[in-house]
Amino acid sequence: METKKQNSALRVLYLEDSKLDVELLRTILEEAYLLDFTSVDDRQAFEEVLLSKKSLDIILSDYNLPDIDAPTALAIAQKHCPDIPFICISGTIGEEKAVDLLKQGAVDYILKDRMARLTSSIDRALNEAEEKRILAEAQEALKQQNKELRIAKQKAEESDHLKSVFLSNMSHEVRTPMNGIVGFSELLIRSDDPIKQAKYVRTIQNSCEQLMHIINSIVDISLIEANQVFVNKTEVELEHIFNYVNSILQEDFERKRIHLKQLEIPENCCELTTDASKLTQILTNLISNGLKFTSQGFVEYGVRRQNGTLHFHVRDTGIGIPEEKHPVIFERFRQVEEGNTRKYGGSGLGLSIAKSFVEALDGQIWLQSKPGEGSTFFFSIPV
Ligand code: ADP
Repeated sequence: METKKQNSALRVLYLEDSKLDVELLRTILEEAYLLDFTSVDDRQAFEEVLLSKKSLDIILSDYNLPDIDAPTALAIAQKHCPDIPFICISGTIGEEKAVDLLKQGAVDYILKDRMARLTSSIDRALNEAEEKRILAEAQEALKQQNKELRIAKQKAEESDHLKSVFLSNMSHEVRTPMNGIVGFSELLIRSDDPIKQAKYVRTIQNSCEQLMHIINSIVDISLIEANQVFVNKTEVELEHIFNYVNSILQEDFERKRIHLKQLEIPENCCELTTDASKLTQILTNLISNGLKFTSQGFVEYGVRRQNGTLHFHVRDTGIGIPEEKHPVIFERFRQVEEGNTRKYGGSGLGLSIAKSFVEALDGQIWLQSKPGEGSTFFFSIPV
């Protein structure tokens, strides 16, 4: 006779009040299966086993017991263990009751004087239950796959849109300094006035710097996308980094009449081992954003040390960022304003580069900001 699984016991719950029938059924099953057998003889014990979450493969039940009948037992079983097949084993109960029971969800009905059929009925029920389980799993996997595909499609469409916005921003961002270089070079060639010449050269230099910044951002983001960001840690003095950042940004701040406040570096933060060029760029990106989006007030930055971590902040009194944009603002190409009406220039790469660099240094970056109240960007890196 075919057995369920060679090395795992068939877990049976049998609801029956006749001891003799219990013994008979147990003997029949033991001949065919390795057996894990539980028998109960009333409703309370039956429900207790089902509620105990004991693992079962099959439930067998007599039709008529003093305090419960098979339809009620089936209903209880369906409530607590809907996937376990239920077979009724009884004396003659009449065709109508048997059919009703099958309609209610029992997988078979076996007469007590036809017990030879029992094992094949159990095998069939187990096979069907297994097939149902596999089907349900496949359906669940399919549902999950569909969900993932829908999300991927949405992301691809969004990314496609963002790339188009990026390209259109970029052509504008590149064209502006290029026009400056071409136009002022023409003027320079034609001019004999040394004062004007010096002014033209400065404008050309500024335009070159802007172009260089854009090209550097594109190179950085390409390296990030290609997983080619390498960290080069050395011992550095934070003061050197802060001084360098101040020196490259000071002129822009003066031009816009915004105050750049650098808080004093606490003594326990002075020296650290990190990638100086990445830290410099994170600070530069955040501070120059602060400047770009601030028309009055100041941009302040500083550092403190706590539990082996350096906590940096860059705070500005600028336009702020709406809360709904906070979760996406560090993604590449994301900008609060989109389209031709953009008031502030930019590629939408600065924050995404800063975030990648912070993460390359095993740190975290986040922000607090409210429109009209300014923004504070925080990042922390382990010392
Ligand atoms: P970019 O500044 O070149 O557009 P970023 O990635 O640096 O790109 O910034 C993405 C967007 O986040 C900006 O376009 C702006 O909408 C918003 N943002 C960044 N920093 C600030 C800030 N300090 N204040 C207000 N908005 C900011």
